[in-house]
Amino acid sequence: MGGGMGRLTGFVVSRWGEDPWARGSWSLIGRHGSPADRVALGAPVGDRLRIAGEATHPTRAGMTHGAYEQGVAAASWAAGLGHRRVAVVGAGIAGLAAARALTDRGAGVVVWEARDRIGGRTAPAEIDGAGFDLGANWLQQYDDNILARLTEKLGLRTVPTDFNDPLVLDGHRSPADAPPASGGAAEAVEAELRARLGSAPAGASVADVLDAWIAAPGAWDVEAVRRLVDAEIVMDSGAPLSWLSARHGFEPGVGEGDRWIVGGYRLLLDHLADGLDVRLRHPVTGIAVGPDGVTLSGDAGSLRADAVIVTVPLGVLAAGSVRFEPPLPAPHRDALSHLGMGRVEKVVLRFDDRFWPAHPAGYYRIHGPAENCVSEWLDTTETDGVPTLVGLFAGPWLDDLWAGADDRIAARAAAIVSNATGHPEDGGDHPTDGPRQKPIARP
Ligand SMILES: Cc1cc2nc3c(=O)[nH]c(=O)nc-3n(C[C@H](O)[C@H](O)[C@H](O)COP(=O)(O)OP(=O)(O)OC[C@H]3O[C@@H](n4cnc5c(N)ncnc54)[C@H](O)[C@@H]3O)c2cc1C
Repeated sequence: MGGGMGRLTGFVVSRWGEDPWARGSWSLIGRHGSPADRVALGAPVGDRLRIAGEATHPTRAGMTHGAYEQGVAAASWAAGLGHRRVAVVGAGIAGLAAARALTDRGAGVVVWEARDRIGGRTAPAEIDGAGFDLGANWLQQYDDNILARLTEKLGLRTVPTDFNDPLVLDGHRSPADAPPASGGAAEAVEAELRARLGSAPAGASVADVLDAWIAAPGAWDVEAVRRLVDAEIVMDSGAPLSWLSARHGFEPGVGEGDRWIVGGYRLLLDHLADGLDVRLRHPVTGIAVGPDGVTLSGDAGSLRADAVIVTVPLGVLAAGSVRFEPPLPAPHRDALSHLGMGRVEKVVLRFDDRFWPAHPAGYYRIHGPAENCVSEWLDTTETDGVPTLVGLFAGPWLDDLWAGADDRIAARAAAIVSNATGHPEDGGDHPTDGPRQKPIARP
C-alpha cells in the first residue's frame, strides 16, 4: 500500500453474518411486527421455560444492558417459582446475568454455551496485547444503564462518543460539489423522517415511506434524505429497508449518551462470569419440558433441571437450531416470524501512521459507492497511542466486502478509509470503489 496511507500493522475482522451462534448482529422489528412481539417472545412458557436475551426487551432491544435486564428478570421469575436447579442456555450477557442472579439467590445453575468462549455478541479481540470489541462496543444510554454502573464500580475507564457529530469523510469530492454547511437543514430532515415513519400505516416498511417521499420530495433535498437514512437507519439496523418496520424499526438507543470501554467488554464479562458453572462447547439442540422438569440435549450429552432460561439469539431460535418439545406456543412462533436479525460487521485496523484527520468526536462516517452502503469509524488512537480505527459496516456492499479471507477484508476496509481521506491506495484489491456520492452536511 502506498500513496500516503499508513501501513496496516494489525487487524481483526468479525463474521456475524455467517456465525451459526448469532446469525446476524442484533434483533429488529419487521414490517408486520411491533414491540408487543418482543414482549410475547419473552413471556414464560408454562412455569419451566422462559426465553430471555436482547430480543425480548420491549424498549432496550439490541443492546447489552437490555440483555442484562432480561436475564435478571428471567432469574427472578425462576426464583419466584421456587426452582432450585436452573439450566441456562447461552453465556452472553443475558445468560451470565441470569446465572449470576440465580447463583446469588442460592440456586444451582449450569450454563451450556455453544462456543469455546463466553460473551456471545460481546466479542473480545486482541491485537498486540490491546483489547478491542468485535461485537458490542458502547454502553448506550449511559446515564440509565445498569452495566455502566458496573463499569464504574469496577473502576473501568470509558470514553464518550458523540454519534451526532461524526466527521463525514470523502476525499473524492470537489469543493464545488460540497453541499452548503447547513446543520439546521439536517436536523429538519431528521425531524421530518421521524414524523413520516411514525405516522406510516401498520405494515408499512421504511422503504415504503422513503420511496413515497423521494417520489414527491417537494423542497426536500433527496440526497440529504438518503444520506440520513443510511446514517441513522441502515447503520443502526443492518437490515433491508423493505423488510424493516416503518413505525417500529427505528428503535431507541444510539445517540442517547454512548461510552465505550477502554480494554473492551472483556473486563465486564470476566466479572459477570466469575465463579459460575459455564460449560463451553456445549451446543444445545433440544429442550424437552415435562411435568417434573426440563431436559437439555446436545452432542455433549444431556442435562436435567427444574427450569430453563434460553438466551440464544433470535436468529438462532428462528433458524430452528434448537428443537422444543412440546413446540413453542403460537404467540412465541408468531413473534419469531415478525422479528429478524440485521447484519453489521466490524473490523479493527492498526496502522503505523495516523493518516486520517483528527476530529474531536473521534468518529467518522463514509458513505459507500451505492445506496444504503455505509461505514462508521471509531478512532481509538488516543487510548494506547497506536493509530487504530474500529470500523462498522452495513448495507448491501457487505456481500462483496466480506468475501474471502480476513486479510483481504481488512485491506478493502483500509482502502475505503484511505480513499475517503484523499490517500488513494494503488494496485490494491478494492472491488467496492465506485462513483462517490455527495456527503450530507451534519450539524
Ligand atoms: C457488531 C455488533 C455491534 C454491537 N454494538 C453494540 C453496542 O455498541 N452497544 C450495545 O449495547 N450493544 C451492541 N450490540 C448488541 C449486543 O452485542 C447484544 O444486544 C447483546 O450482546 C446480546 O446479548 P444476549 O445475551 O442477548 O445474546 P448473545 O450475546 O448472543 O448470547 C447468546 C449466547 O448463546 C450462545 N448460543 C447460541 N446458540 C446456542 C445453542 N444452540 N446452545 C448453546 N448456546 C448457544 C451464543 O454462542 C451466545 O454466547 C452489538 C452487536 C454486534 C453484533
